[in-house]
This record gives sequence, C-alpha cells and structure tokens, in this order.
Amino acid sequence: MLDLLIKGGRVADWKNHTDRILNLGVQDGRIAYLGTDVPAAARIIEASGLIVIPGVIDSHMHASSWLGGSSAFRMMAKAGVTTAMEMAGPLETVFEGMKREGAGLTIAVLQQLKPGLNISGTDPSDDELKRAIQESLESGAYGVKLLGGHYPMTPDAMKRLIRICCDSYTFLAIHAGSTEHGSNLEGVREVIAAAEGRPFHLAHINAYCRGNVEPLEDEIRETADLLSRHPEIETESYLSPINGCSAKCRDDVPESGVTRSCLKSHGYDVSAEGILKAVADGYAAVHEVVDGFVTLASPEKGIEILKARGMDVPVSFKVNPALSRFYFATQKKQDGTFLVNSFCTDGGGIPRNVILKNGLLLVDFGALTLQEFVLKSSYETACRLGLTSKGHFSAGADADITIADPVSREAVSTFISGQPVLEEGKVVARGGTIVTTPDGADAVRRFGLPSRVVDVRTLLKTRWNR
Ligand SMILES: [Zn+2]
Repeated sequence: MLDLLIKGGRVADWKNHTDRILNLGVQDGRIAYLGTDVPAAARIIEASGLIVIPGVIDSHMHASSWLGGSSAFRMMAKAGVTTAMEMAGPLETVFEGMKREGAGLTIAVLQQLKPGLNISGTDPSDDELKRAIQESLESGAYGVKLLGGHYPMTPDAMKRLIRICCDSYTFLAIHAGSTEHGSNLEGVREVIAAAEGRPFHLAHINAYCRGNVEPLEDEIRETADLLSRHPEIETESYLSPINGCSAKCRDDVPESGVTRSCLKSHGYDVSAEGILKAVADGYAAVHEVVDGFVTLASPEKGIEILKARGMDVPVSFKVNPALSRFYFATQKKQDGTFLVNSFCTDGGGIPRNVILKNGLLLVDFGALTLQEFVLKSSYETACRLGLTSKGHFSAGADADITIADPVSREAVSTFISGQPVLEEGKVVARGGTIVTTPDGADAVRRFGLPSRVVDVRTLLKTRWNR
C-alpha cells in the first residue's frame, strides 16, 4: 500500500514530458506511482482543479541575520518552496535560523566574502581569498558569494577570486559590481570581462537592467547578447517588482551600494534623510515582521521603525522594470532553449516569494507552458545543484511536491520526501536539511541538522569540462 496518493491533479513534469490529469503516489519518501489507476494508499489527497508539480526550488533567496531573517523559512514554505539556495550568509546565522525556526526545507548556503567580515579589505591577497574560501566550505557552505553590488572588492581582486574558484572547482556566485562599477550594466560588462571565459554564477540577471546606464531596451539587448556569447555563465532571474537591501548608514551615508544607487537613480539624496523621503513617497518600503512573516510596512510605520532602530533595517525599493523581468523570464535563444533557465525570488525573508504567484501568471498569459514553468521553477536548479533526485517525478525521485491553486496561484500543500511541510496553507514542518559539500559534512553533523552531501568539485569538473 502507498503512503500517499495525490489524486486527480494536473501533474506537470519537464523531465518526463508530462502535463495531464494523473494520480501521483508516494512510498517511503519517494515517487512510487504516476498513472490513471487508483492504487490503495494510507492517505489520499483530492487534487482535482489543482496543479501538482515537483517541489519549487528557489535558486536565490536570503535567510540570514544580515538579510532576510529567520522568518524566511516559513515565508518560503508558505510560497510553495521546498528547496532553496541562500545566497549570502553569514552561514552560521542561516543554520541557527533553520534550527530554531526552520520549516523543513532543504537549503544550500553560499558564504559571503565580505570586506570587513571575513576578508580584511577590498583588495585581499590570493592567500587570504583561498583561506576564506576553504574556511567557508569547511563550515558547511555549498560555495561562496561576492556581494559586489553591495560590498565590493576591487576589479583585480574579483578577477583573482574567479580564477581561484574556477581552478579549485568551487561554486562562486557574484552580484555584479566592484569598487569601480556599480550593480548595473557596467558591472555586468566588467565581471564578464574579468572572468576571461571562466564559468561562474551571475546572480539575478534582470536586476542589472533598470535603465540606469543606457535606455532600458538597449541594456536588455546588450545583456542578452553577453549571455548568449557566454554560455559558461549561469544565472537566474526573478519576477518581483521590488528589491531588498539595507537602510543602515555610516556617517549618514547608506552602507550598501545598491541602496545608494536606488536613491540616486530616482533623484533622492544619498543619505538617511533621502531614505526617509523615499519611504514617505512610497518608492521604498520598510520590512516589518507581523505574526512571524515579513511584510512591507506602511510609510508612516516604516519611518517610525527606521527612526527607532537608527536606520539599521531592511528596505525594499520598487526598482525592477516589468520589461526586463518579463524578458529574462521568457526569452529563448535561436536553438529554442531559454536564455535564462531558472527562476529565483531573491526573496526568502524579503517579502517577494513570487515564483508561483507571478510565474503561473506567465503560464496563464501564454508566455510559458506549465512544463516550462517546472523547468524554471524546479528541474534546472535541481540539476545545477547536483540534487539529481529532485525536480522531477521519475520513479524513485524524492517525493518533493508542490500542490498549487491555479486561480489564486498560491501553494495549497507541499511535501518534502513525502513528509507534509505545508498543509492547506499552514506550515507544519520544523528544522530542515542542509545541502553541503564533502568538506562541510562534519561541520553540519556537529551542528546537528541532517545534511545532503553533494560532491560539488566533481559536479563542476564534469559540467565545466564538457
Ligand atoms: Zn540576493
């Protein structure tokens, strides 16, 4: 007898070319049946009128003390996510958040290499970079992240970092930007030139096309052209109109380069006063935790929070044009494959976990098929992370399942390895599983959370030498 049968839903699976009304069976945490029969099961869920897809994988989110916060896990679970990559750290705070407030999700973490935190300055030596990378991996990180747009290094340090990670087969994600160029098209040109054809992961490609350097259409065209000419570069795109950054100021100037450029691009003073004005005008919104979920505060409440906490609060600016979001979500290359293969939210604890909400809108619109949505919302990132048993409904695959309402475009229920995580819109799971490398397995074990070990070095060696 099966443990669980999800009956009569519209089952879509990119890998197995499926999109039809089927029954999906689970046994011992794995996919055990897919067909039109009704095998006996200990539990049956009626899913007629609902969409049944491989668990949503968010390829870029935030859940650390610095950005996102530990509400992130609940917020992602509620949004139908089952697996995610945390793209900044600090690692320890993500792990602690999972232990305390986790929602059962499978999480890989990239440790930030941040001047002033684990790197001495903006132009660290090769030895210092290598030490920081190895320390990150041995602490349980899946890889490392350069938050160039927020906390930059020099172009030369960035170039050396890419070389070091490439030579050591370390997963490296970069938010474009350096001490010379910002988080925009100039930063994209710069980082691609610095890589000299070496592979790396370029975070949230749509976020560099905001029309701040050239007219928006020209920026999109040039970025698309750069991606087509550099298939070694992996990226993702998100669908939310808002970003997420910090309002923290030092000597009255916002610390984050992204915050500074968001103010500048819309004519605000690059100062604490400018942030307050942007919040008052509704161009920026302050994050406020309500009942364990991060929301966007009203302007009045936001200003109150900023003043009470001396500006040390996350804020979101409405800076992402619809055109670049739509373009990178849907555009295909001449060979019919997608220019960008996966969705992210850059959300987590930033209230913009809209893969289902806005992604299914693209399906309704006819810009993506439901199978293509599954590719971008699950399968591709599972492959990229080396989680081969996720992202599809083949027999024996992990029973990571998202059941969604196609009308409200919200998650109804989710399962991870057959265990309920979201039940009728309520988060019911705790803790979580950390995806780590062989170097970090001991650290994760000592921390006391279950792990899934991926041999990232071999994975990248195979992918890059193909
Ligand atoms: Zn991010």
